[in-house]
Amino acid sequence: MTPPAQTPDGDNWLLTPGPLTTASAVKRAMLHDLGSRDHAFIALTQRVRGALLRIANGNAAHTCVPLQGSGTFAVEALLGTLLPRNGRLLNLVNGAYGRRVTRICGLLGHQCRELVEAEDTPINPAQVDRALAADGAITHVHVVHCETTSGILNPLPAIAAVVARHGRALFVDAMSAFGALPVDMHTPALHAIAASSNKCLEGVPGISFVVSRTDALAAAAGNAHSLSLDLHDQWQVLERNGQWRFTPPVQCLLALDEALRDLEQEGGPAARLQRYQRNCSVLREGMAAMGFRAYLDAAVQAPIIVTFLLPQDPAFHFDTFYAGLNRRGYVIYPGKLTGRDTFRIGCIGRIDEGVMCGLLDAVREVLTDMGMKLPLGNK
Ligand SMILES: *Cc1c(COP(=O)(O)O)cnc(C)c1O
Repeated sequence: MTPPAQTPDGDNWLLTPGPLTTASAVKRAMLHDLGSRDHAFIALTQRVRGALLRIANGNAAHTCVPLQGSGTFAVEALLGTLLPRNGRLLNLVNGAYGRRVTRICGLLGHQCRELVEAEDTPINPAQVDRALAADGAITHVHVVHCETTSGILNPLPAIAAVVARHGRALFVDAMSAFGALPVDMHTPALHAIAASSNKCLEGVPGISFVVSRTDALAAAAGNAHSLSLDLHDQWQVLERNGQWRFTPPVQCLLALDEALRDLEQEGGPAARLQRYQRNCSVLREGMAAMGFRAYLDAAVQAPIIVTFLLPQDPAFHFDTFYAGLNRRGYVIYPGKLTGRDTFRIGCIGRIDEGVMCGLLDAVREVLTDMGMKLPLGNK
């Protein structure tokens, strides 16, 4: 066996939906202590908020509110703060992250109606149109931009256009899209998006954030069900004195600041998207050549994470496959679909097509070690 392929920092490559392989400079940026009330930290917070707002094409009518915690914290804070208690949500679901929103609404006691689509099918704007026409009590719509469960891309602009035509407001979980796929706060009906530091932004985990229309946030005073997840309060304190309400993840923010500089240097989200698209097509083509079947049609695949069906061959054991790749320096991810046996390989993080080619070689080796013949003969 060839020695394991490792990152410049001696770790395995993380081909997962996050946390991801990050640049050395991003990790090195964390080797400092900063007081959370210090002017340097206040300036850092402002800089990062500004950079995130610019990525979302926000202006003076929008604001970015960072929050301690993983991405789900921001989704829950968004729903708890921006969905009024007497609001009614239409939740567009084609995967586990959409289902999570329903669960959050249940815990918050918010009215939530699901429009469910199959996990391999994008949300259909015409169905959203019918659902909104049929239920005038719906005030807000929620959609997941890239459903990381399968890796499918939902047609955000077309959905937003329908929501706008009905005069309702749109929330977007842009978690696995933000920083690569375009997200524009000027999209009609779009009130707020939630995302986090450790996906396409290529920072370390620990910070989530909401970019919101300022008027929507201002109108949400007193809505929140929770002190720590009160976006309005977090925003007010940040605006008043530049400080986070509670202990901020200082080193995460230092890393995110560096990661945002990296993103700009790469050429911004459009350039990053191109790198991810290249990773994704090298991966899909290489796996197809070995006989693996991708779960999604290429036409609906976001270049974020690819789901593959488990080979039907009785010689194939996922745990052996996973461990063999791990020993060779590549960490992949189990599947998350309901009712299909799958695994996933991520295209995001500080990785390029060279890493993807190395992974494909490792897959070939591991399959051979398992006694399987290539290409796989699964139907
Ligand atoms: C990663 C992700 C989240 C948040 O997950 P956390 O584990 O809380 O960071 C939410 N929605 C989508 C679509 C995601 O990909």
